[in-house]
Amino acid sequence: MTRREILQLISSVATGALVLGKGTAWAQGQVELTPLADGLYLLTGLGGNITILKGSDGLLMVDCGLPTSTGDLRAKTDSLGQPVQVLIDTHWHYDHTGSNVALGQAGARILAHENTAKRLAEDNTIEFFHRTFKAVEPAGLPKETFKDAGKLTFSRETVEYKYFPPAHTDGDSTVHYTKAGVFQTGDLFFNGIYPFIDYSTGGSIEGMMHDAGLLLKEVDASTKIIPGHGPLAVKAELKIYYDALTDIGEKISKMYKSGKTVDQAIAAAPTRKYDERWGKGMVTPENLVKLIYQGKDLQAGKKAA
Ligand SMILES: [Zn+2]
Repeated sequence: MTRREILQLISSVATGALVLGKGTAWAQGQVELTPLADGLYLLTGLGGNITILKGSDGLLMVDCGLPTSTGDLRAKTDSLGQPVQVLIDTHWHYDHTGSNVALGQAGARILAHENTAKRLAEDNTIEFFHRTFKAVEPAGLPKETFKDAGKLTFSRETVEYKYFPPAHTDGDSTVHYTKAGVFQTGDLFFNGIYPFIDYSTGGSIEGMMHDAGLLLKEVDASTKIIPGHGPLAVKAELKIYYDALTDIGEKISKMYKSGKTVDQAIAAAPTRKYDERWGKGMVTPENLVKLIYQGKDLQAGKKAA
C-alpha cells in the first residue's frame, strides 16, 4: 500500500464508510443507484446511505456522502437531469454531509436539526479516532433548522423529518417518505455491522438502545428501512438489531459496573453470538467493547467534573 492509500483507508475507517463484508454491494467504492419507489432512489457506495426523490424540476436529497464523493454524487444527480433543491442532513458526521458545501453553493436549501447545524458550524473532535473535524464553510451550513419534527411536500410525496433523543450523536434525525413507505434512519441503525457510537458529540450505548426501540414504532412490516450504513432492511431485521444491541449493551454495562477492566471485558467476548453477523465491519467486536468502555469513562468523567 502507498502512503496515500493508507491515509485513505484510515479516513474511511474513521468515518465508518468502509465496510469489510465480502461481496456486499454496499461496500465503499461500489456506487449504485437503486429505485425504491416511483421517483425515489437509494444511492450507496459514497459514504453513508443517501436517498434522492425526483420532483418535477428538482431533487430532494437526504444525506450526501463523503467529501471525497462529491464528483460521483454530481454524476448521479446529473444522470437524473435535475439540480438538488432540498438537502436534509440526518446528523453532522462527514460521511453524511460531505457535499453540503457543494450543494449549498449550487443553491440547495439545507435543512437539519438545530444540534446538527450547530455541530457543523464548529470544529468537533471524535476522541475514539483522535481526530478533529473542521467546521463546514458557511455555504454548507443548514439555513433552516428544526427542534422536534416537521414535514414538507415535495413532488407528490410527504416527507416527514423527526429528531430523536441523543444516541449516535446529539442531532440524530430520521426521514420518512410516507407515501412511498420508505424510512431513513441515519446512523441510529447500522444494518449488518456493529454501530459506531459518537460519545464525543452526545452519543451513548443507552441512547442507541433506546432509539432503536423508538424506531420500531415508526415502521410496519411493509416499510423499506434505509439504515445509515448497510443494505436496505425490513422491520424484522431492525428488531434483530434492537434485540442484539440491547443484549450487548446490558452485558457490557454490567461488566463496567462490576469493575472489570476493558481487557477483561474483551476477553469475556460479550458479543460472541452476534459476531458472525455483525462483527466484520469497521467496528470489530473488540472495538465495540472499547468504544462502550471509553464512552462510559467519558460519562463518568463528566459527572465527576
Ligand atoms: Zn454517523
